[in-house]
Amino acid sequence: MADQERLVKTLIDLIKIDSPSGEEDAMDREVSSRLEKLGLKVSHDSYNNVIAKLAGQGRPIMLSAHLDTVEPGRGIKPIVDGGVLRSDGSTILGGDCKAGVAIVLEALTAALKTGGGNRARNRAIEVVFTRHEEGGLVGAHHLDFSMVSAKEGIVFDGEGPPNRIILSAPSQNVVTAQITGRAAHAGLEPEKGISALLIAADILGRLPLGRIDEETTANIGRLEGGLKRNIIPEQAFLDGEFRSRSNEKLADVERKFRGVFDEVASRYPEAKIDLDIVNTYRAYQIEADSPAVAVIGRALAEMGLEPILESTGGGSDANVFIEKGITAIPVGIGVRDFHTTWETAVISEVLQGAQMCEGVIRGA
Ligand SMILES: [Zn+2]
Repeated sequence: MADQERLVKTLIDLIKIDSPSGEEDAMDREVSSRLEKLGLKVSHDSYNNVIAKLAGQGRPIMLSAHLDTVEPGRGIKPIVDGGVLRSDGSTILGGDCKAGVAIVLEALTAALKTGGGNRARNRAIEVVFTRHEEGGLVGAHHLDFSMVSAKEGIVFDGEGPPNRIILSAPSQNVVTAQITGRAAHAGLEPEKGISALLIAADILGRLPLGRIDEETTANIGRLEGGLKRNIIPEQAFLDGEFRSRSNEKLADVERKFRGVFDEVASRYPEAKIDLDIVNTYRAYQIEADSPAVAVIGRALAEMGLEPILESTGGGSDANVFIEKGITAIPVGIGVRDFHTTWETAVISEVLQGAQMCEGVIRGA
């Protein structure tokens, strides 16, 4: 049985290991050694994602979480405060996604230990702990899928309680633009200059931004440019994104964005506008009656919990796994306020996550 004390200790131990994106080696060593001690066969792909297998009954199921955190995520001091875990307020907690990793580790520990030391029957398991999920699902994009045979799975990386099951998520395209005008002295010869900031403003004023419809949004989150008060700004940089749960609408927003940039470029023939639009992840939609949902539903039912089926505005490794043919479903990990310094992990819900995962491993 999943044990709250052991689970919280594991979670605190993991939170204390710094693992901002790109610096996951220490976390990797810790989780790999724990998985090996549990009897899993641990491998790494060329990106050093962790892939660990456990023989068992039936078709394998993938249990996934990610090893990295956002910043500020160094020297985190987790504090148990009533029924929640939080940081001291100077950093994130890192419950995203350490609670997901701890849930999988505790569930394996609980499911594989039975009285008298005999191993209980378990379903075949493939644990996938990715690197660099934050800011682009980089580890998942580099995952060697030839090393994974599961066709369904659970991604322990959602906000809220473990019965929150996320059945659909959007596509995201990232937009960057470098605008080059021409510098000139603003007081002596302004007519010789071309203001890159003015061009950027012209673009911003024409782009479709904000909530476009119930499943589509667009944002330019950063504008940088200019050097000094008395110089016509030569450079400007735009950084933004748009998302939709419909790939057709995503393509439509991309056409509109490109149209605006082309139109503005034609008004400033001497300026240079380098526009880059890159897809970071594709939308998905899982049917509520799919077998992968049923696996989670059965484990929740054993605990007396009803599934809450939802859609999200954010992406996760699940977007990549699903694109690659693995029906991987994100579920809540008991954590609130991801990516903030007031992030908390609700201990009772993290425990429920481990209980649900244990049920899945036991083949509920
Ligand atoms: Zn996460």
